[in-house]
Amino acid sequence: EKASLDELTSKKTLSNDGKKTLLAANISSDNDVDFAIKHGAEGVGLFRTEFLYMSTNKLPTEEEQFEIYKNVLNKMGSRPVTIRTADIGGDKPVPYLKAPKQENPFLGYRAIRLSLDREDIFRTQLRALIRASAFGNLSIMFPMIATLDELRRAKAVYEEELAKVEDEDIPHGEIKVGMMVEVPSTVVLADQFAAEVDFMSIGTNDLIQYTMAADRGNEKVANLYQPYNPSILRMIKMVADACHSNNIPVCMCGEMAGDQLAIPILFGIGLDEYSMSARQILPSRSLISTLESDKMVALANRTLSFYSTSSEVIYDVKRTLYDD
Ligand code: PEP
Ligand code: MG
Repeated sequence: EKASLDELTSKKTLSNDGKKTLLAANISSDNDVDFAIKHGAEGVGLFRTEFLYMSTNKLPTEEEQFEIYKNVLNKMGSRPVTIRTADIGGDKPVPYLKAPKQENPFLGYRAIRLSLDREDIFRTQLRALIRASAFGNLSIMFPMIATLDELRRAKAVYEEELAKVEDEDIPHGEIKVGMMVEVPSTVVLADQFAAEVDFMSIGTNDLIQYTMAADRGNEKVANLYQPYNPSILRMIKMVADACHSNNIPVCMCGEMAGDQLAIPILFGIGLDEYSMSARQILPSRSLISTLESDKMVALANRTLSFYSTSSEVIYDVKRTLYDD
C-alpha cells in the first residue's frame, strides 16, 4: 500500500523490503533550499553554482560565495550537501569572461577545463567552499572530468587551498571530494577514477548527449536522446560496479534520476543516491516504497541485455511494476 505523499515528507527512503537509498534535490540557488526541504529532500545532491556567475556582470567574490554556501549548509543542517564547482560554458555562457566564440561549445572550453585554465577563479571558489564546510556536511564535485590528469590537477589545487586555510587557522569541516561522470571516457575507465574519489555522481543529461552524439537541446535529434538505451544502462551499471568495488557511493544527478520509469532499473543496478528537482522527490519516495530488491535486480539484468531498443526496456519496466 502506498503511503500518502505528505506522510512521506519526513520519512527515510526505503524499498518495500527495507533497502535504504537517499533522495536529494538539485538546486541552483540558496533560495531553493526551503522548497527542497518542504518536498522531503534528504540532502542536496547537486548545487549548480554556475548561476552565481551568470546572474551578475562580474565574478562573485570569495565572501559573496562563502555567504551563499554557508547559507545552504546551515539550512540543510546535518543533511549531506554536494556543491559542484562552476560548470561555466557549454549551454551556460558567462559573457563577462569573454571566452572566444566556439564552433562546438558543448565540446569546448567549459566546466573543469575553464577552472583549470582560470585557476584564479577556481581557487576563489574552492576557498569559499572550504571555509563554508565548517557549517554543515559538504561534498565538493568537479564537472565534466574527461581524464585522470584533470581530476588529479583539480584535486591538487583543492589540497593546496585546504592547506592554506589550515595554515591560517580558519575552521573547516570534513569534506568529501568527488567527480561527475558525464563524459564517456570516465565510464570506460570508471575503475581507475573510482580509486581516486570519495564518490561519483552520474550526470545523465550530458552523458546521454555525448554517448549518443545527440545534442541534448536539439529537437531534430531528440529521437536519439535515449535514456533507456541499453548502452546507457550498461554504462550506469559499469559506474555503479566500479564505485562499489572501491567502497564508495554512486549517485545520479541528471534528469534520469527522477524519472519514474528509470528508477526501478536504477534501483536494481544499485544506485545509492538520487538527486532530482524537488517536486519529484515525494513521488519517487512513494514509488521506491513499493519496490522489491530481488525483482528490481532481475529487471535491471534483463534490460541490460536487451538489443538496443528503448521501447523493449520501457515495456519490461511497466510489466514488472503493474502486472502482478
Ligand atoms: C548532467 O549533465 O546530467 C548534469 C546534472 O549537469 P547539467 O545538467 O548541469 O549539465
Ligand atoms: Mg552536465
